[in-house]
Amino acid sequence: MCGIVGYVGKNKCRDVLVDSLRRLEYRGYDSAGIAVFEGEKIKTVKAKGKINEGLALKLEETGELEATAGIGHTRWATHGEPSDINSHPIGNGRVSIVHNGIIENYRELKNFLISKGYGFESETDTETVAKLLDYYYDGDPLEAISKALKDIQGAYALGIMFRQHKNKIYAVRKESPLIVGKGENESYIASDVTAILEYTREYYLLEQNEIAVLSEKGVKFYDLHGNDFEKELQTADWDISAAQKGGYKHFMIKEIHEQPAAIRNTVSPRVKDGLPDFTECGLTIDRIKSYRSIYIVGCGSAMHAGLVGKALIEKLARVPVVVDIASEFRYKDPIVTADDLVVIISQSGETADTLAALKLSKSIGADTFAVVNVVGSSIAREADMVMYTNAGPEISVCSTKAYAVQVAFMYLFAFQVAYAMEKINEKECRELTAELMGMPEIIQTCIDSEEKYQYIASKIMNADSLMYIGRGLDHALSMEGSLKLKEISYIHSEAYAAGELKHGTISLITEDVPVIAIATQRDLFEKTVSNVREVKARGAKVVMVCREDVEIDKASVNYKVGLPTVSDLLMPLVTVVPLQMIAYYTAVSRGCDVDQPRNLAKSVTVE
Ligand code: GLU
Repeated sequence: MCGIVGYVGKNKCRDVLVDSLRRLEYRGYDSAGIAVFEGEKIKTVKAKGKINEGLALKLEETGELEATAGIGHTRWATHGEPSDINSHPIGNGRVSIVHNGIIENYRELKNFLISKGYGFESETDTETVAKLLDYYYDGDPLEAISKALKDIQGAYALGIMFRQHKNKIYAVRKESPLIVGKGENESYIASDVTAILEYTREYYLLEQNEIAVLSEKGVKFYDLHGNDFEKELQTADWDISAAQKGGYKHFMIKEIHEQPAAIRNTVSPRVKDGLPDFTECGLTIDRIKSYRSIYIVGCGSAMHAGLVGKALIEKLARVPVVVDIASEFRYKDPIVTADDLVVIISQSGETADTLAALKLSKSIGADTFAVVNVVGSSIAREADMVMYTNAGPEISVCSTKAYAVQVAFMYLFAFQVAYAMEKINEKECRELTAELMGMPEIIQTCIDSEEKYQYIASKIMNADSLMYIGRGLDHALSMEGSLKLKEISYIHSEAYAAGELKHGTISLITEDVPVIAIATQRDLFEKTVSNVREVKARGAKVVMVCREDVEIDKASVNYKVGLPTVSDLLMPLVTVVPLQMIAYYTAVSRGCDVDQPRNLAKSVTVE
């Protein structure tokens, strides 16, 4: 969601800014712009639409720019429609800013500034910050920033330029992500490290109430009283190739193919001597034993991974698990206590609602354990314990490998909890762990059956609405399958517990509403088949996702998607592949923008 970049150095900055913005396109946006120090002025070029549709064309008209310092932005509109005027950078010639987040008290600030004689051009909340900085500016940028920050409520990452301080960029953040990159004689700001990986791997994690000042001499950090201090440099271990398509048509299909390796990278470091081991993350067996219950909180696919986790933990460990959507959890006065463990799941580690849920849980006194992909992200830093999923950058907005590794974590975690609670013995725990470690090879065989899924996609691509059904673990998977399809192909779909259909929703079934039935659990297979017969009798075309080796009556289903046989418990890890691929090929056949679906953003940094 929204991208911020900035550059100060010896080279011309226009292309660096635009290239870095392109690498943040995956986060989702609706307009783009840059502002640079050109001569004695701040020159701004910005436009509604994707970079190629707007900004790049305007920059061509603008011609060569000599500037060696500037800021750039991809906007995901929250206040005011996407338009040229509302695009960032926003300023008044003296001050120019880019902003990610929401200024909650912008109305109050706007009234105050109007009373001081300021006029407003855009509908954005951001403009109040630009004008407030101008109001407080009296020759000293650090003082103006410190004063303005005291007045601002909300979430922000800001890149700031003052015309009178040529070739200097100021950066601050609260809640929204922002890093400061350190190159050879040049420095950067960016919303995430993928934007600048081509130029440098070294970066600083900016914290709240810290001001970074980038100049031709390098980067300096100040507190809000103007005192300078040193910060520890971080090194990104992500490979630049991980953030490129590498011959695939879309990031999504590349990331589906990366799942076996990603799962290996998640699981292997947490298995010691054949048993799960989270002690390096701070989660010891004694600590697990002390918990009254477990909460799992996330949004979207991360929450769906939590649903798989709940089914596994309750089945194996007999410990009650509550799964909640972060945006609900944070406002419902949850019955969490200091005796509970709250597992917080987020790919980016910046999801605003999830971060708020984490802070709430901490304030109650619960232990918090974050399962996060992006190293050093806000959630990772805030939680009591953290486990990184090591999936490498996920660029496609539609999550695939990040979900798969969250599910893989859930297995290992469920085994660990069941072992700690003495519900499984050491031998059983070793066997389960060994089977999990063998899953990447089996998942690979599913990925290799791509044509099967393309065929199914060709059969559902013209539907207006679809139904996914399943029971137990299969129901949790059907929710994820349905979400993937909706997100990228724009076909309406609903996931339903198979046995619940007849209590209302079956009225939606017609011959034009295909049903994808997931039936991988042996004990529930016949039950789901009965539900499949009910929809088939009402004209639906049925795609059955089940084990390759089960016999199904041809009269009950139209198409079968066969899966390799693993134990019932582990079937979700193979089932997810066809669901992702069916969604992917359906979206491709419909000509959709797979990696950047409409209205969506990757790292959802607003509530
Ligand atoms: N709230 C700001 C706006 O609507 C910033 C949005 C963003 O994070 O892109 O302009």
